[in-house]
Amino acid sequence: MSYLRPNIEAMQGYVPGFQPPDIASWIKLNTNENSYPPSPMVVEAILAELGSDGTNLHTYPSASSQLLREEAGRLYGFDPSWIIMANGSDEVLNNLIRACAAEGEEIGYVHPSYSYYATLAEIQGARVRTFGLTDDFRIACFPERYEGKLFFLTTPNAPLGPAFPVEYIEELARRCAGMLVLDETYADFAGSTALELVRKYDNVVVTRSLSKSYALAGMRLGLAIARPETIAALDKIRDHYNLDRLAQAACVAALKDQAYLNQCCLKIRETREWFSAELRALGYNVIPSQGNYVFAAPADKNGKRVYEGLFKRKILVRYFSDPLLCHGLRISIGTQSEMEKTLAAIKDIG
Ligand SMILES: *Cc1c(COP(=O)(O)O)cnc(C)c1O
Repeated sequence: MSYLRPNIEAMQGYVPGFQPPDIASWIKLNTNENSYPPSPMVVEAILAELGSDGTNLHTYPSASSQLLREEAGRLYGFDPSWIIMANGSDEVLNNLIRACAAEGEEIGYVHPSYSYYATLAEIQGARVRTFGLTDDFRIACFPERYEGKLFFLTTPNAPLGPAFPVEYIEELARRCAGMLVLDETYADFAGSTALELVRKYDNVVVTRSLSKSYALAGMRLGLAIARPETIAALDKIRDHYNLDRLAQAACVAALKDQAYLNQCCLKIRETREWFSAELRALGYNVIPSQGNYVFAAPADKNGKRVYEGLFKRKILVRYFSDPLLCHGLRISIGTQSEMEKTLAAIKDIG
């Protein structure tokens, strides 16, 4: 006899990208982490919060993360009541499903995109409907009126790279009867954002992460921007102390240092364009990317062969066995020097 809900027993659970124990001896390009360090102001802020004897740590952090909401509000041009902070954007994606879709109700998303949406739906017991992409990078067969309770749109798309045009996303917002969640994890690397739609449509939510562009994957920081009614609902669901003191201090400092963010994203974009052109010259098909990664396929469409060749040379990239993705690889864009070594290894593999 089992004490567990059948959907929990049956589910596999999310499998994160491999984190090798001897991480320093690898060039790690498999989870879209930032190869550059975070802003020096972040380190300073964490040390200041810790204090010389750690006395700050014996009291709870701000439950509402109020200073962070104010800082993010200033940055994005919204009142703090439109913003919620999260322990990684994964947390707020989870709470959005919990807030919008009851057991047995439908949520939708594009495949391929972020596979964690499927896991979250399984936990909730929500039904899932996936949509493919057309050759011109639109959602295939999206209904005139989509009746699902929530639709996740990853833009820029991961693992493929392109962002959807804002006019197109606006059309989707009108066609969704439920919530449209724009997962803009990679927007800082892109030329555009659909943030303005949050003001225009009461069913649009934008999520952001500090893991990639701000190089803070290890701190677990994300946020969502939505109508105050939606934010209030999400506030009821989250763990009341969801962000610890060090994460809160790090977040304020990171958001304040926009000069550092912009400089870091610029370097990554330049390396991405250089690396994409070099791969194309080797006969690879590289999808134009707006993120800090590229999806690239060798001429023989054997992604696994190149993955294994790189693995032997201690370069870790992401291979997906999914039939829609197994012809290529998702390669995170690291430093220029890491990508030069990766290119040399790819030439060597042939
Ligand atoms: C990395 C990633 C996330 C998770 O971000 P965290 O803030 O680290 O939880 C969410 N969505 C997509 C598409 C991602 O690639």
